[in-house]
Formats: sequence, C-alpha cells, structure tokens
Amino acid sequence: MPLDTYGRNINYLRISLTDACNLRCVYCMPENQVFRPRDELLSTPEFLRLTAIFARMGVVKIRLTGGEPTIHPDVLSIVSGMRAIPGINSVSMTTNGVLLEKMAQPLATAGLERVNVSLDTTDPTEFLRITRRNSFEKVWQGVLAAEAAGLLPIKLNAVIVRGFNDHNIAKLAGLTVEHPWHIRFIEMMPFGGSTDLQRSQVVTTTEAINNIENTYGPLELLDNGRMDGEAVMYRIAGAPGRLGFISSVTKPFCAYCSRARLTADGRLRLCLLRENEVDLLTPMRSGASDDELRELIAAGIWQKPWGHGLANGEIPLNRTMSEIGG
Ligand code: SAM
Ligand code: SF4
Repeated sequence: MPLDTYGRNINYLRISLTDACNLRCVYCMPENQVFRPRDELLSTPEFLRLTAIFARMGVVKIRLTGGEPTIHPDVLSIVSGMRAIPGINSVSMTTNGVLLEKMAQPLATAGLERVNVSLDTTDPTEFLRITRRNSFEKVWQGVLAAEAAGLLPIKLNAVIVRGFNDHNIAKLAGLTVEHPWHIRFIEMMPFGGSTDLQRSQVVTTTEAINNIENTYGPLELLDNGRMDGEAVMYRIAGAPGRLGFISSVTKPFCAYCSRARLTADGRLRLCLLRENEVDLLTPMRSGASDDELRELIAAGIWQKPWGHGLANGEIPLNRTMSEIGG
C-alpha cells in the first residue's frame, strides 16, 4: 500500500478524464474558459495503463471526474476497462448530470457503481445563474435515470454560494423527505483567479444546518458523527434520505485523507488545495517503464502535504477546480 510521510494509506484515486465541461459554474470556471488541446491530455490507453500501475500499488477505489467526465468520447470503455483491472473494486463518478438521462444505463452496464450528481438548487432560474446554462430539467431527468439504472444511493452535491442559492438550502434539503437520496452540502472553496467569488460568499456548514433546522427542526446526527467519506451525516426527523455536510473550509478532514488525484493532463496531484504535482505524462511519453512510473508515483505520494492553508488565505492559483478534478 502506498503510504505518505504521515502514515496515511492512499488507496483512493480521483481521475479527471477531461478539463472540458458543458456547464460553466460560477464557482468553478469563467464563462470564457479555454480548454486544453486533446494531445495534451492522457489517451484512453494511457489512463488505463496508469490506473493499472496505481492498482498494483494498492489503489482499490476510483472516482471519475473532470471537467465533465460524461463528455469524454470513450467514457464507457474507460469504465469497463478500469473495472477489469485486478484490485480495482469500485469505479464511481462525479457528474453534472446533463447527459445522464441517456447515459445512466450504459454506464451502469459498463460497471459503474454509483454517481454523485452536482445539483445546487431545485429552482431552474437559480440553476441558470449558477451554471450559466439552462439545463435544470436535463439534470433532473438525469438524476431520475441514474436512480432507475440502480446507481445507488443517489448522492447530490450542492455547493452553496451566498447571493446565488443560499435562500434555497432548506428546499434542497427537503428532497430527502421525499426521496431516499443523500444531499451533500459542500462549503465553497474560493479558488483564486478562476472565479470572481469572495470568501464572504462561502456559506459555512453551521450556517447551512441552522438554515435547515429553522424549517425542519433539529437534525439527527447519524453514525455517531462518523464520516461518510468527507461528509458528516444527519437526517431530518423521519426522512428516508440523508444530509451530508462537507466542511472543506471551516473543518478540513486532512488527517483522514486517503486520496490522490490524476489530472487529465497526466499530473499526480497530491492535495486538491496545494500546488504540488508530479508530471507522469512526459516520462510516460518518453518511454518510462511501469517500474519507473511506479517509483515516481511512490516518491510523490510519500511527499503528500499534510493539509491546506485555506484558513490562512493560502489559495492555489495554478489551476481551476475543473482542471484538477474536484
Ligand atoms: N463536472 C462534474 C460535476 O460538476 O459534478 C465533475 C467535476 S466538478 C469540478 C466536481 C465537484 O467539484 C462538483 O461537485 C462541484 O460542485 C465541485 N466544485 C467545483 N468548484 C468548487 C469550489 N470552488 N468549491 C467547492 N466545490 C467545488
Ligand atoms: Fe463543469 Fe463541474 Fe465545474 Fe460545474 S463544477 S463547471 S459542471 S466541472
């Protein structure tokens, strides 16, 4: 198992299939974002080769992300190819859901285990303001299609941004009263350079919980506060679904971090919020053997940073969230 200096066992790899996207969320990228040319991105055989190397090093769990992973032309063969790699026991995906209505069943058939769908609001006008695209209905149909395809449990990720969707938090949470879904509220990470949003627009977990409790009464803490991934889980009394709160800004979970990221341009990124990266694409294209790539990966993981410095105003400037793979 690859361990870092702090003894954290890195067994979870998030892979960004592309930096491109069919939405333009205000907290993620500017309207005029320029995407990388295809030849600067990993090819499908390169994705599969690197995944197999990571699997031999102890990675067991893969999450495909982006940019938007469903717009990758080979996404189905990538899912089935990764599922076939010995040692990989789970392949899941974070998606904006725009293409899921058609793709949920083929993805499930290819071996995808689950999806997290990003949905920040139940209001189509707010959706348009946040994502700069008029795709609410498509995403909603995509969520229903994912449920019908058995990509369960349905988890919806909502980033709350003051001035955009902060007055609709309780409505979003209310979906868990009607559906057995998990709605996960994520504190917005104010990425420098790539967006115009300010720290003052971060809505904290405490504020979100207060807001929901004003409508639904006290929330029940679940699992004695044990985290589900990066989320602390609650429930509205009597609801079939669950609420998760991811406090990346106010309560980072760095001590439990078991993940590394592979960017679409072949960099191993050790922490979402630190600029440290290891270039794997250049050595791979210069003929590096699997053993040589393995050594580069092991040396990088050994140096995985302890934590991020958001609380001190240290913000990574070298990439947008969509380039890293959230
Ligand atoms: N396009 C896919 C999607 O939106 O689900 C996958 C990539 S997106 C970068 C992954 C996750 O990062 C999404 O849930 C998105 O809401 C989240 N995200 C993007 N920018 C963020 C930010 N500044 N702060 C917190 N979360 C962010
Ligand atoms: Fe695209 Fe996801 Fe970023 Fe929104 S959060 S712009 S859907 S990559």
